[in-house]
Amino acid sequence: MQRRIERNLIIGLFALVVLVISVLYFFPDIHSYAFFNNETEKNVYSVMDLIREGNKLVVADENLSSKAHQLRMELPSDVTQNDVEITEQALYKSITISISGVDNNYVYSYPLVGSSDHIADFTFDYAGGCGVFEIVTDQVYVLNTTFEDQYVYLDFLDPHDVYDAIVVIDAGHGGKDGGCSSGDILEKDINLAITEKIKTYFENSEYNIGVYYTREKDFNPPYSARVGLANDLNADLFMSVHINSTSSGRTSSINGSEVMYRSSDESGLSKAFAQNCLDAMLSALGSNSKGLVAGDEIYIIRTSNVPVALVEVGFITNKAEVQKLISDEYQMTTAETLYNAIIKTLKENNKL
Ligand SMILES: [Zn+2]
Repeated sequence: MQRRIERNLIIGLFALVVLVISVLYFFPDIHSYAFFNNETEKNVYSVMDLIREGNKLVVADENLSSKAHQLRMELPSDVTQNDVEITEQALYKSITISISGVDNNYVYSYPLVGSSDHIADFTFDYAGGCGVFEIVTDQVYVLNTTFEDQYVYLDFLDPHDVYDAIVVIDAGHGGKDGGCSSGDILEKDINLAITEKIKTYFENSEYNIGVYYTREKDFNPPYSARVGLANDLNADLFMSVHINSTSSGRTSSINGSEVMYRSSDESGLSKAFAQNCLDAMLSALGSNSKGLVAGDEIYIIRTSNVPVALVEVGFITNKAEVQKLISDEYQMTTAETLYNAIIKTLKENNKL
């Protein structure tokens, strides 16, 4: 009796494994087949089909190739440029294109044409009069969009071809991870407030710098995505903005600025960048120096392939310093200071 149960159990488990493997194996095919099986025009290629067949470059339309564009979307005659909304999320290498006023056959009636280069995944969703494409790219690109007649042309450009330098700025913590705290003051909010102010300096910068942010709102991207953004972009500099605390989290007289760097970075660029950040904060903020600290035990520092500095602006656990840290003016000075440290380092590294 016991043996028969065991045998049935083994057969059952085996069948389950075969089922799961088959579903996993066939699912992508079933999915794209269902997606495009209504397609009637033989000379129009669907991007998803091309990706499935592993084609690298396909020109589906001579007109498109002469224009040297990568992808072309066609809009129905009653849909205009104003109905198209494009949002990019560099952290997830994702581009979302929402088109309102199309019907749920849009993707079949107006198939995308062009090349599947740079596209890792591609989906179309339809809800309530709005069609939404989500394109996930293999790298972070600068999306160039051109509207012409009823066509939208999409081109994925290498950020290094577009900008003189690339910087990634990470506002530490976020979402459920508040970081360190003092009463109801949370580190994550100060980090974000300073980062938003750094952004205003870059927006008004005289330099052609591509700046990417790991978060611009209150959520907690995984560490791997934060450092991944810097690595994928092969950024010239990667800065993470934090506020310090005593290890016990208790209020104390300890205060001042500290910057962590990657000591295993043999180029020395991480340490030089950290030094510039520290020097700038000490002179502009008048803060006490807690010095440079080798931060290789920190995941985003250890795994950064690009020059990294993790800035601890001040101590949340110091009564006087936390009052400064939450003030708009001090945050603005900090932002200006860190912006200047980035510019100085980029110039020293001959990027500007
Ligand atoms: Zn922190």
